[in-house]
Amino acid sequence: MQEQAGKETAANLEPEMRNAVMEPKTDIKSLTLEELTAEVTALGEKPFRAKQLYQWMHQKLAREYDEMTNLPKAFREKLREKYTYTAHTLVERLVSEVDGTEKYLFGLADGNVIESVLMRYHFGNSVCISSQVGCRMGCRFCASTIGGLTRNLLPSEMLDQVYAIQRLTGERVSHLVVMGTGEPLDNYDNLLRFIRLLSDENGLNISQRNITVSTCGLVEKIRELAQERLQITLALSLHASSQEKRKALMPVAYQYELNDVIDACRYYFEQTGRRVTFEYSLVGGVNDSQEDAERLAKMLGGMSCHINLIPVNPIRERDYTQPDRQVVIAFKNKLEKYGKAVSIRREMGRDISGACGQLRKGYMEQAR
Ligand code: SAH
Repeated sequence: MQEQAGKETAANLEPEMRNAVMEPKTDIKSLTLEELTAEVTALGEKPFRAKQLYQWMHQKLAREYDEMTNLPKAFREKLREKYTYTAHTLVERLVSEVDGTEKYLFGLADGNVIESVLMRYHFGNSVCISSQVGCRMGCRFCASTIGGLTRNLLPSEMLDQVYAIQRLTGERVSHLVVMGTGEPLDNYDNLLRFIRLLSDENGLNISQRNITVSTCGLVEKIRELAQERLQITLALSLHASSQEKRKALMPVAYQYELNDVIDACRYYFEQTGRRVTFEYSLVGGVNDSQEDAERLAKMLGGMSCHINLIPVNPIRERDYTQPDRQVVIAFKNKLEKYGKAVSIRREMGRDISGACGQLRKGYMEQAR
């Protein structure tokens, strides 16, 4: 193949530059303390510098090297040359007048935008993060998936959502849910690294018991996750009481049989001792009948779990509507008759584009 004249390909550059083109810089905030210590000592610095640097990134939540005042200037320069340092820019912050919920749009280094949510509860502050830019799962009622998947988020870019919110509010984040845009188990390695860094005692030290990962049900990945020795909660997006109905709402159901998904959840409980949460978005006239409730209860029979009912949040692109309140209550009552633990999710931040992916989508349409 002929080289294009003037184009910067690796072949026509000086050796030093060639390296720069071929080897992308390491993303420093995604390294564990152990890895960071190896990097720092390889640069000729004492190991305690790694600990200081780690604390600047993960406890003091520094946005740039220049904030790290107890690190020698020459060392900071070396770091700047060798590593990328992620930090989100704040594009928009919406505060709900109803319940204090806050929605954030953050800008990434490559120009993409993602959204995160802060919810204030009596037990503490919970942040909902995105795990990908866009999503390829195609759930019919979800706004996040309409433009498809753009790319995975790095561990650091997941952390930065929490870090930016804690910095901006000055309030401690104690709980985390991975329920924003994206399918977390479709970005498995980065997700795991993120969880380990977030729950690290040298970082924000958020208890794994306060971390929930929500998935549309990638069976192999659920089984893999069960063996990671984590104490996190798994939430499974079920949304239907039969394989056929699930296919109509979630294309991923063409890939996995409902029975296999439920079996994987049982396995998760056996391996971790953590009770699985089943999320069920109630869509008016689609999955909200008494028969649905009965089938659902039987399907989860004998399983130690929790069911979370979410009246569907209507999005402009689809004509799905919420069931009437009595229908929601009747659905809950039916499940409880079968001995199931059920809650109806409180709607947070309804006045500020509550549903998953709506804020980002609105922004992208405006930008266009
Ligand atoms: N991909 C993951 C996590 C992101 S979605 C998953 O599928 O679980 C988080 C939860 O919000 C999922 O249960 C999803 O099905 C649900 N959800 C998405 N859009 C919704 C809407 N418009 N109304 C109600 N729930 C919705």
